[in-house]
Amino acid sequence: MIQKGILVVVSGFSGVGKGTLMKKLVEKYDDYALSISATTRDPREGETDGREYFFHTKEEFQKMIDQEELVEYASYCDNFYGTPKKYVEDQMRQGRDVILEIEIQGALKIKAKYPDALLLFVMPPSAAELKERLVGRGTETEEVIAARLKRASEESDGMEAYDYMLVNDRLEECVEQMHTLISAQRHRVNRNLEFIEKIRTEVKRFTKGE
Ligand code: 5GP
Repeated sequence: MIQKGILVVVSGFSGVGKGTLMKKLVEKYDDYALSISATTRDPREGETDGREYFFHTKEEFQKMIDQEELVEYASYCDNFYGTPKKYVEDQMRQGRDVILEIEIQGALKIKAKYPDALLLFVMPPSAAELKERLVGRGTETEEVIAARLKRASEESDGMEAYDYMLVNDRLEECVEQMHTLISAQRHRVNRNLEFIEKIRTEVKRFTKGE
């Protein structure tokens, strides 16, 4: 019996280091499938189409929405981001845990569609550290950084919808904590009802002397 994969949503403020965390997690544990989103934002230096994102024009993105190819999508700082449906559903059906690194509006849509999804929020060790990382990254203009910090303060208001919070202080430690939380999800009683029922039936047969 293949247990259906877990849908894991990872959110966190821009600059918190989610990208690096995800990269380390999938390098260390090859049981995870990392979903690649579609976006209308321009590639950053070093980003490749089909690796970090599928980069699209606004028209192409709209077509994906119209053809219901996205599980969810949201607008973030003047760009659209969305999760391709086919990859997520195929991988979950094959029993692989799928990770979506998405912002909060998308996370809430996922929770409504897939109530068993696990929602994780990655926090910086401090607000000052977040700003430093965002500026130090050097990939965004001052204006974009200001917009992302504003968005971070808005997102912090919705954190209660998440299941767990992690602090990305030491990378390796945070990766381990994330893996532990996802693994624990596999053992939830409501994810194992079929197996429980099988054992229950067999034990009942014993008591009847079969
Ligand atoms: P960035 O431009 O820094 O790569 O991403 C901006 C924000 O969009 C991040 O918070 C990231 O998690 C989020 N994001 C990336 N892909 C998706 C997606 O498919 N759906 C949603 N809702 N948010 C996404």
